[in-house]
Amino acid sequence: MINPEILDHDFPTYLKVIAEFTENELIPAENEMVEAGEVPVRLVERMAQLGLFAITIPREYGGLGWSMEQQVLLTFEFTRASCVYRSRFSTVIGLCSQAILDHGTEDQRRQLLPAMAAGTLVTAFALTEEFAGSDAGALRTTARRRGDVYVLDGSKRYITNAAWADAFVVFARTDEAEPGAAGVSAFIVDAKLPGVRTALPAIMNGHAEAPVGEIHLDGVEVPAANLLGGPEGEGKGLTMALRGINHARMHVAATCIGQATRMLEETTAHLIGRSQFGSPLSELGAVQAMLGASFAEMEAGRALAIESARAFDTGVIPRHRIAAAKLYGSEMAGRVADRCVQLLGGEGIVGPHPVPRMWRDVRALRIYEGSSPIHERNLAKAMIKQVGADGALPDSYRV
Ligand SMILES: Cc1cc2nc3c(=O)[nH]c(=O)nc-3n(C[C@H](O)[C@H](O)[C@H](O)COP(=O)(O)OP(=O)(O)OC[C@H]3O[C@@H](n4cnc5c(N)ncnc54)[C@H](O)[C@@H]3O)c2cc1C
Repeated sequence: MINPEILDHDFPTYLKVIAEFTENELIPAENEMVEAGEVPVRLVERMAQLGLFAITIPREYGGLGWSMEQQVLLTFEFTRASCVYRSRFSTVIGLCSQAILDHGTEDQRRQLLPAMAAGTLVTAFALTEEFAGSDAGALRTTARRRGDVYVLDGSKRYITNAAWADAFVVFARTDEAEPGAAGVSAFIVDAKLPGVRTALPAIMNGHAEAPVGEIHLDGVEVPAANLLGGPEGEGKGLTMALRGINHARMHVAATCIGQATRMLEETTAHLIGRSQFGSPLSELGAVQAMLGASFAEMEAGRALAIESARAFDTGVIPRHRIAAAKLYGSEMAGRVADRCVQLLGGEGIVGPHPVPRMWRDVRALRIYEGSSPIHERNLAKAMIKQVGADGALPDSYRV
């Protein structure tokens, strides 16, 4: 539950609370988390108390209702710690709550959002399947209507929080005659229903302490009332997912900045303290070139994220700029991580330094929420279409 005083904080005070939580509790507990192989329960409880499950949910549904720009500023702070921590609440604040907020019926909003904001109802977003990854519209999970229920059959994989979730937003094909996106609907599925089974992978390369999981649905009877958006929601599942996906991409873009910030802080401190050839490594020109370039690229990513978030807050979702922010941010975080590992030398490979762990973690940011090649392809397609239509680029700044 959210501590009552948190609800009274103005944004600058709240931002400070989260910055202090990151510095005093999340970062110091990283090694404990790695040893335990999961985020310690007491920290998940602290996240809930401090309202981290609530930052995107409006006040009328029990959340904190911060704007996208404020959410991005918060993300810069809490992702100075391992991005694994963020995974524990990311599916609630992004993909799931935003789809319910935008497209759920009022009953669904009132029933789900307050518990999600309080951190007592953890939700996972179940879209990806073995034969439907980048091509999500090819999914094969089916939902067949039988009286007052839909019967769900199929399997999902790579689902963040599958193992911890109380409920899933599951995408399934309600129209089997329609092979593409138009035949897909979204359902809120209680994780305890008979026929639901989850499984964790044996190995994770990065994000190890917040493993993604499989969800198997075997004849699961889901009440028809759990069709997202009510009867009108049938066949609109993937359209409904879009706001949450854009929202999540914005947060991933901001996560890349938080991770780069921490890696550069840690690496610069190391370089100041370590001498070779009679002087600190930080005095070597080649080393400084890598640091300076990294700083400039990180700040470009920060500006792009803030600018896209401000545009988001005007009400028209700038999806191409958001895609660019996510693409650039995740590629930037990868370059910065690689340089930092290089600058740490053997410590970048051997031992418990946080940077090599973050290097492994940020690799996944180039794959989920749209892989980099998919963003490049989609941006190019949008450019060609828009310029062909009116000569301007998509999400154009032209006046
Ligand atoms: C840590 C993590 C968390 C995740 N969390 C979730 C979650 O919560 N919910 C969920 O539903 N899914 C989740 N996913 C799944 C994620 O969305 C998919 O991994 C992603 O969409 C890519 O699908 P795929 O892995 O099947 O790769 P594929 O679709 O097989 O693609 C593999 C690679 O091929 C290339 N490629 C594919 N298509 C094209 C194209 N048209 N043009 C150019 N290149 C292309 C890209 O380089 C791509 O990375 C998560 C994944 C990871 C790794």
